Amino acid sequence: RCAGAAAGLTLRDPAEGRFRADALLLSPGIAHLLPRAHPAADAARAAGAPILCDVEFLYRAVLAAQSRARFVGVTGTNGKSTTTALIHHLLTQAGREAEVGGNLGPPALSLNILGSEGVYTLEMSSYMLERIATLRFNVAVMLNLSPDHLDRHGDMAGYAAAKARIFARQSPDDVAVLGQDDAMTAAMAGGIAARIVPVSGLSPQPGGVWAEGRMLRDDGGAILDLREAPALPGTHNAQNAAAAAAACRALGLTRSEIAGGLVNFGGLPHRLERVAESEGVVFVNDSKATNADSAARALASYDRVVWIAGGEAKEGGIESLAPFFPRIARAFLIGRDAPVLARTLAAHGVPHEITGTLDAAVPAAAAAAFGGAAPVVLLSPACASWDQFSGFDARGDRFRDLARALTATNGRAA
Ligand code: ADP
Repeated sequence: RCAGAAAGLTLRDPAEGRFRADALLLSPGIAHLLPRAHPAADAARAAGAPILCDVEFLYRAVLAAQSRARFVGVTGTNGKSTTTALIHHLLTQAGREAEVGGNLGPPALSLNILGSEGVYTLEMSSYMLERIATLRFNVAVMLNLSPDHLDRHGDMAGYAAAKARIFARQSPDDVAVLGQDDAMTAAMAGGIAARIVPVSGLSPQPGGVWAEGRMLRDDGGAILDLREAPALPGTHNAQNAAAAAAACRALGLTRSEIAGGLVNFGGLPHRLERVAESEGVVFVNDSKATNADSAARALASYDRVVWIAGGEAKEGGIESLAPFFPRIARAFLIGRDAPVLARTLAAHGVPHEITGTLDAAVPAAAAAAFGGAAPVVLLSPACASWDQFSGFDARGDRFRDLARALTATNGRAA
């Protein structure tokens, strides 16, 4: 019946004309309200049945197995996957029994039931947070907030309210790791019952975890110089590292266990992933940057780049990236909204050309970089990929293949 709902089948009983199930398990990608409710969601709502997502079922299964395993939830507009993977990595490196999933990688219902010492780290999208009913996070991490998914949440207030549900049902025994690097996230403190641990990639947070320059610290002193953690470049990753460290401190890891795990974290593909290097030029795959805010983090991480961008632009385009335009030696634009991006770059005097496809952009960008324009070829599209690819991962895979083929003869894969 639930699978039927996801597939768009009717849930109305033909004889009685009503929803006949205890709950509707609806894939997060399918809308239950905006922009247009799926008929199955309407039917469930009319019958007063809850609309849930799979992590809620995992939580209930763990409780039913009488396990007291702890749950860590991670949300925010950007950095969820990195922080989720990093927390799980720190836990397993420290020898803890742990599972990871949710919006990242393995679906929640494929995870093992852990014993009472175990820890589940779950990446939670706003869509999923709207569909939990009893799940309570022992440690809830909220990283940051910037405009995204407004078609589904109506406006920023709706989006922020969905995100704030990560703290629902928490008690003072629980921990809320709260980003302090944007005002809207910091302002969530008022509605939180758990013990708040403030985190920042930029400024000191007494009682919390923060980075000052590249030094990760807490009240006990330095935890690690993040220059020793090659997979975590940029202040955005300093925020992710601070949040992961704070979550793991709450779960009982020592500062040296955390430092050791940060050093050998391998990073995730498609997030500032160094994929090839040749003649002093590094090729960086940041295909996951599907909005301008993410691309800003990437551009902020390098002094001078040849930039490949484009696809389906988000509301507001790339105007917000203007402070980083002086770092762009030349831009190569792809995808449906290349002309939109070109207009913004032209208005700011940034050299650019529309190459249309990634296959054309990579050799053109490489030629510019090898010619001395910049030591980095950065794919950080600031746009969704759906116009030309099946997803950001397919786009990043193609970039990696193209960059490696191009550098194979005289370079080396990074
Ligand atoms: P998410 O799962 O929330 O989409 P990811 O960890 O996959 O986040 O990172 C996606 C992109 O978002 C990265 O390539 C980077 O450009 C940007 N990013 C990562 N962490 C942060 C952060 N803490 N603040 C702002 N931007 C970030």
